[in-house]
Amino acid sequence: MSNKKGSKQHSNVQLGIPDGEIEVDNDAYASKIGGTPLWLDPNTPPSSDYCTCRVCRDKMYLLFQSYAPLPDSAFHRVVYVWACNKRSCMKKEGRFGVYIIKRKR
Ligand SMILES: [Zn+2]
Repeated sequence: MSNKKGSKQHSNVQLGIPDGEIEVDNDAYASKIGGTPLWLDPNTPPSSDYCTCRVCRDKMYLLFQSYAPLPDSAFHRVVYVWACNKRSCMKKEGRFGVYIIKRKR
């Protein structure tokens, strides 16, 4: 990666920004920031181990969930990103968690 002024670089990374308030927070196929997780199959939620801080063992907060299907995939895919907000856990490995759920389309 170069920091040359004026150079143009292309990346496959796509960034998102909040674009408005979610009026109905019950759609697992919509991306959202914070709140409670919405599972693709609410009848079989994953183990709470996935949102447990590996440093302090308390439950982490959902930073965001993003509906992120892969092109040409036969599966829906949602990425959940969790984090612990305790000062004692900051900068320690295990205070973030990423969990991906796939479900057949
Ligand atoms: Zn923690």
